[in-house]
Amino acid sequence: MTFERHKVNRRVLQDLKKRSTFGIFFYITLAFTVVFADKYYERHPLFSVIFLLAMLGICTFRLVHLPISKQMGDRYEIVNRNIFYASVIVSAVIWGITFALIMFQPEEYTVQMITAVLICGLCAGGVVAFIPNRWLSIYFNLCMLMPSAVPMFIYKSNVHLATLIAFFSVYLMIIAFRGNREYWDALENEHLLEVKSDELARLSNTDVMTGLYNRRYFDQALELEWKRSGRNKSILSVIIFDIDHFKNINDTFGHQAGDKYLRKMAPALDAVFKRDYDIVARYGGEEFIVLLPGISAENSRQLAEQVRKNIESLIVRYQGKKITTTVSAGIMCCVPDYNTSSDYIVSCADKALYEAKQTGRNMVVVFTPESGDHDARDRVLCAS
Ligand code: GH3
Ligand code: MG
Ligand code: MG
Repeated sequence: MTFERHKVNRRVLQDLKKRSTFGIFFYITLAFTVVFADKYYERHPLFSVIFLLAMLGICTFRLVHLPISKQMGDRYEIVNRNIFYASVIVSAVIWGITFALIMFQPEEYTVQMITAVLICGLCAGGVVAFIPNRWLSIYFNLCMLMPSAVPMFIYKSNVHLATLIAFFSVYLMIIAFRGNREYWDALENEHLLEVKSDELARLSNTDVMTGLYNRRYFDQALELEWKRSGRNKSILSVIIFDIDHFKNINDTFGHQAGDKYLRKMAPALDAVFKRDYDIVARYGGEEFIVLLPGISAENSRQLAEQVRKNIESLIVRYQGKKITTTVSAGIMCCVPDYNTSSDYIVSCADKALYEAKQTGRNMVVVFTPESGDHDARDRVLCAS
């Protein structure tokens, strides 16, 4: 499996805790059942008190450790994991030793029978709960059953029951191994699904030809940034780039050559817009758009000018021929207004681009509102 070890360990531990927490309450209830069954505590008061205190102690410790380890987070992860494993084993050992001692107490048939049924049920439940870690599952099983089975064999006190317990233990180990394999298969499938859905999300935001963000992603990002900048009263810039006479490239060198030129636009733009929160996207055919939070009109103009110069000197070679062209850019910078849609900033940048095209191409134009458009003038003044 290739997914991160650290992440997997954390997930497995979470699952182990989730699956075993309920059992802790069960242990406390059943410990009292053993002691009070057939008035066992009257015949063995000291043993009963020690058993109850030990069980209450370990169960309280496990319940308290759960939220503490959660609060500690990743810092003491290995320590907390080992504490969890140790506390599980200690509970199994307490049950195992108690069962063994009760089995060797004379004239305690009723309690012996109750404890035997109880220990087998608890052991089966525990083995299934700890399946995410097969070794924990197996050690739990052995610690619960072997303290009674081994002496019963050695002293030949109850060979039939000891054999039965041994068979039951092997059966539980097989279940632990099988269940563990199924658990890890399910975990791997879940991980593959996560990877695929991440990949799908990435693809749905990416323009296949250039590898830049696509228009869909840009529109979503703009919507969020428009609201965020509006709330913070901070400036937001949008630059639209449109390749000049791009149709000529297609007509002269062919569509493939045009595609190659478009692909070269991606590194040319990425080289200038380097901040993590700058969004560079392919907006349509030969149009590219950039979202620049917190960047003034003048700084946006300087950045766009840098791109314009780079494209002017860019030579793309296609089948031995050199392709050169230029780019025009339109810019709008403003402080977003809650009452206006985010389309506003793009349409203003588009108007500026149109002006650049009309004025002769290969230039950068920053949107300036017409004298009658007081609303737009206020917003641009706000941003400058
Ligand atoms: P202007 O300077 O006014 O922008 O002129 P232009 O030729 O760049 O603009 P026009 O809108 O007339 O042409 C854009 C061209 O871009 C037309 C279209 O075939 C081409 N185009 C759009 N998408 C792609 C694409 O993915 N690959 C290629 N090779 N060409 C494309
Ligand atoms: Mg165009
Ligand atoms: Mg064009």
